[in-house]
Amino acid sequence: RAVTAETVCVAGLGVSGAAAARALVRSGHRVVVVETGDGPRQRAAAAALTAIGAEVRFGGGLPPEAGLVVTSPGWRPDTPLLVEAVARGVEVIGEVELAWRRRPSGAAPWLALTGTNGKTTAVRMLTAMLTAAGHDAVAVGNVGTPIVEAVEEPHDVLAVELSSFQLHWSSSLAPHAAAVLNVADDHLDWHGSMDEYARVKGRIFERAGTVVYNAGDERAARLAAPYLDVAGTVRAVGFTLGVPASGMLGVVEDLLVDRAFVPDPVTAAEELATLADVRPFAPHNVANALAAAALARAYGVPAEAVRRGLLDHVPDPHRIAHVARVGGVDYVDDSKATNPHAAAASLASYTSVVWVAGGLLKGADIDELVRGAAGRLRGAVLLGADRARIRQALARHAANVPVVEVPEQDTGVMDRVVAEAAGLASPGDTVLLAPAGASLDMFANYGARGDAFAAAVDRLAAGSSAGG
Ligand code: ADP
Repeated sequence: RAVTAETVCVAGLGVSGAAAARALVRSGHRVVVVETGDGPRQRAAAAALTAIGAEVRFGGGLPPEAGLVVTSPGWRPDTPLLVEAVARGVEVIGEVELAWRRRPSGAAPWLALTGTNGKTTAVRMLTAMLTAAGHDAVAVGNVGTPIVEAVEEPHDVLAVELSSFQLHWSSSLAPHAAAVLNVADDHLDWHGSMDEYARVKGRIFERAGTVVYNAGDERAARLAAPYLDVAGTVRAVGFTLGVPASGMLGVVEDLLVDRAFVPDPVTAAEELATLADVRPFAPHNVANALAAAALARAYGVPAEAVRRGLLDHVPDPHRIAHVARVGGVDYVDDSKATNPHAAAASLASYTSVVWVAGGLLKGADIDELVRGAAGRLRGAVLLGADRARIRQALARHAANVPVVEVPEQDTGVMDRVVAEAAGLASPGDTVLLAPAGASLDMFANYGARGDAFAAAVDRLAAGSSAGG
């Protein structure tokens, strides 16, 4: 479907909105951007767009002449302008759908993935595998270059990370292959319900050539179920941390193996890599590696390039990043664990943990996480807005685990947090920042939270070596 509307309303002037507006101006559309905030960042972005001929309005409803709305993923569907568009029969899409519709013929195919957690890690692993195979590939979507720009560049293939928000506003994407990593409780305030959130994630499969799903995640597997037994061109490939059945990728002893993209999946398996090639090593990163490998293999990447890609992969900061070892205790920053499902994966990667947690739980349930982790916990240090809810869950499921709360009004909160954690830890333990909540109650973002933790650990290390 081409973009035929003469006037397009771009809702929201973030990175993707600005990129969408620029692309639409380039193709001769009249563009009206509607932005609700008007701080210095928005004013500067507005000036740049006005200079190329777009119109920017601060506030206001749907421009009556708009025949299409391209919305920011940050705007909830119940935002008045979007409600008005739907009521008037004006189509609303996101930047990803716009990019798909604007692909030139013969443009690079998409390898797309979504999931509650692991998207950025998996998409970076995938990009490294494709690059190792000699393809010109870039990571786009929720990461990197705006996708509406990347589709006009001369790449061989795009590794596309899609959030549930982006999928909500997409309707015609047909990726070469698509993967769902996992589906857990997050962003339910935006989507309204778990069923709706899962349904939206499942959209990634609707027109995919190959459907890749996490066989160990019940909800992800359910989304793939309609594609498992269909005769036709769609192929469904599962991945598992266990021994793979025929038609799947999985783990045999210390090897990642492929029993799907091989000449005879019934009898043969091809070795892709070893567990030690997955860094940082953790079960959830093995799952991410298998998902990336399945997408790469669907595109024809040879086994040795899968392995080389894993070795070339540079993990992003704040994802189970080892900060220091002080007094025989390892300090690990997983500040990106911003929901309970992520924190659960993170906690499951260590056997004896002092858990640093807290922040904004966004209404998510944490009982399951605490119940699952109870046996590994040597202590917990809680901070941030929803710390009382975590304390209560610990009291319910791990009553003998010592818990310290650090109120946010304390000065030097992170120094207190780290000192308390050090006090609870014994040599051999891991002090793990895996907050299970968002950071915005106390920090600018998860990165700032992780940096504050790492800086406090560094001061602790300096103090302990100075003190002998
Ligand atoms: P996303 O882009 O989906 O937020 P990231 O790769 O940035 O994912 O990882 C975010 C956090 O989620 C990590 O810090 C880790 O705590 C957790 N995580 C990563 N991969 C997985 C996975 N496959 N399953 C569960 N949790 C994961």
